[in-house]
Amino acid sequence: MIEQTRRQIEASSRDSSDNLLALFAPRSVAVVGASRDRTKLGSLVLRNVKSSGFPGPIYPVNPKARRIGGLVAYPNVREIPEPVDLAVIVVPAPSVLPVIEDCATRQVRAAIVISAGFRETGAAGAEAERRIVEVARSAGMRVLGPNCLGVIDTVTPLNASFAARMPEANGVAFMSQSGALGTAILDWAAARDLGFSKFVSLGNEADITESDLLEIWTSDESVRVVAAYLEGVPAGGRFRRVAGATTRQRPVVVLKAGRTTAGSRAVSSHTGALAGSDLAYSAAFRQAGVIRATTLEELFDAALAFSLQPMPGGAKLTIVTNAGGPGIVATDAAISEGLALTHLSSTTTSQLRRLLPASASVANPIDVLGDAGPDRYQDAVHAAIEDPHTDALLVILTPQLGTDAPATAYVVVEARRSTDRPILACFMGSQGVRRGVTALAKGSIPNYPFPERATRALSAMVRHAEHLREPLEAPRHVPADRATVEDIIGRARASGARALDSYEASRIVAAYGVPVPRGALAHSADEAKQIAGEIGFPVVLKVSSPDVVHKSDVGGVKVGLNDPDEVGRAYQSIVTSVREHVPSARLDGVAVWAMAPPGVETIAGVSVDPTFGHVLLFGMGGIYVEILRDVSIRIVPITPRDALGMVRDLRAYRVLAGARGHPPADVDAVVDVLERVSELATDFPVIRELDINPLIVYQATRGALAVDVRMTLSV
Ligand code: ADP
Ligand code: MG
Repeated sequence: MIEQTRRQIEASSRDSSDNLLALFAPRSVAVVGASRDRTKLGSLVLRNVKSSGFPGPIYPVNPKARRIGGLVAYPNVREIPEPVDLAVIVVPAPSVLPVIEDCATRQVRAAIVISAGFRETGAAGAEAERRIVEVARSAGMRVLGPNCLGVIDTVTPLNASFAARMPEANGVAFMSQSGALGTAILDWAAARDLGFSKFVSLGNEADITESDLLEIWTSDESVRVVAAYLEGVPAGGRFRRVAGATTRQRPVVVLKAGRTTAGSRAVSSHTGALAGSDLAYSAAFRQAGVIRATTLEELFDAALAFSLQPMPGGAKLTIVTNAGGPGIVATDAAISEGLALTHLSSTTTSQLRRLLPASASVANPIDVLGDAGPDRYQDAVHAAIEDPHTDALLVILTPQLGTDAPATAYVVVEARRSTDRPILACFMGSQGVRRGVTALAKGSIPNYPFPERATRALSAMVRHAEHLREPLEAPRHVPADRATVEDIIGRARASGARALDSYEASRIVAAYGVPVPRGALAHSADEAKQIAGEIGFPVVLKVSSPDVVHKSDVGGVKVGLNDPDEVGRAYQSIVTSVREHVPSARLDGVAVWAMAPPGVETIAGVSVDPTFGHVLLFGMGGIYVEILRDVSIRIVPITPRDALGMVRDLRAYRVLAGARGHPPADVDAVVDVLERVSELATDFPVIRELDINPLIVYQATRGALAVDVRMTLSV
């Protein structure tokens, strides 16, 4: 493997993405700031590089020493006689730039800047960091950090970090935006038999980001699963693209911290207020096939399962247990995670009935009873895993009289050898199962102390397997009258307006094929009457002004007008009322609309997320959106599958789909509107906020109507 990586580096021209590989499998390493003083970080890093078993030459760099730790030391990088692939820099912040300059001169491929004292300290630090990147980029050199812990690669092997221990080698590639968390994880992982292939502390991400690592890990055979702790993603668009490609090859599980930090954007629209930045992360992850963990425990529980077990073919779980309670807990947890319990075949159940004691349960969960020894477990485990309907197996063991945890662990390990389906274990307890847990770890069976954690990890696997089965899909292009939209937006911008009046906003969505009621703009009461006559009664009158945001609040909406007289009076009343409430408002006229029949009121809208750009929101309207926040979000552009997912995500979906006397709503029409709005926002990035509130949805096949449209533009 290492040879292969090296050949890759050697064969390639010195371009910067190949230089990234030198971070993990360099041919030689310089430790700049290596020290004889064992209390210094530079000493620890050098000792780590040496003791990790790194096979290539190691060059300590220190102007005051000729030998360090048995190695020849050099006063600076320039004077190292051989080529240097990777420089690990552990000098005080002010000395980092000159070292980087030396590295650039010597065509060092990658540098790890462990030193702190940069962006995290303020403007001067940020400027120093910028200079480092500038120098590095001009030489095609890649930089990790600054302000990081370093890199560990257990395949090379190389420990170019100041982490106290080298982890076990296994399939988890872990990256962390928090260095301190990283050390804790390494320590904790050691006790849990969780092995890593790569460990990267990202630090300030001046140059190398999580997307860079995802990109190279996508095709790295030593990476079975990517686990990441992230606090934010600097470039959302690239992350989505790269992660989307990675998850087709490897599962990616991310703990994105900061769920509760409220977005600090000034927002005036419904969509903007509801589509908080954390929801945008969830949407981006989901669209890219990234699994979002909510706790560190969940992150590593899933990573463990992915790294050791094959992907399940479906969501059907079979449980073998020696205790009823944990079996029920596992069942509940499995169902709430979206898994299903296998309906065992009659062959399996009759086989179990023959093999197990009369009082055992031969239905799923299979209860082998408290006095089950390894033999009985073996019978049950084999019958369960061989059942054609079983997609995954969970073996639960509680320490009871007659329980032999280690021997039962061997049964599980053996069963795994004869199947291509995943097996997870839940040996509950501590002392009573310790040797069994060790045997499971040795046999590469992920074990969890509680059933819920096992089912949660399994559900992550099932979700990933489902993601892999979904065919790649592109956004659908809808026919649209782009010229009209360009014209309306162009005129609005020329007049310096940031908001469009509601009539023009409606025309824009209509130009993209979003259905709106029939309507036209009137400039006098007589014109309003004439338009109403053409449309047919009843009609609705609405003020149309870029300066009126909430039209009803200022007496700007009159619904249910049944004859010309009512229309005339409504016209006057709207003009008077708006003049009174908003004296400065520019009045473009009063729009006359056909009255839309009642239906289910929903909301659809667009806002701009600082990380991911345009996000699209769909939710139940009125009281539901305000109180229950029953909304779903995707990053624009969306695919047809995303659009359908947005509707299905709602808690109210089952009501929409038709339940208990409610006829089913026209979900297809909603999906169509969402795709059209997504395309509109994609074509016109200048749209900052768009609210369709309400989007009235009718019974199946009867469509939907955008009854009120509000739109603002970026300046
Ligand atoms: P705003 O939200 O600015 O006050 P709307 O255009 O949404 O103005 O009108 C307020 C309410 O009036 C809507 O939520 C809807 O219930 C009703 N309404 C508006 N236009 C129509 C229409 N064309 N047909 C039926 N009802 C309408
Ligand atoms: Mg409205």
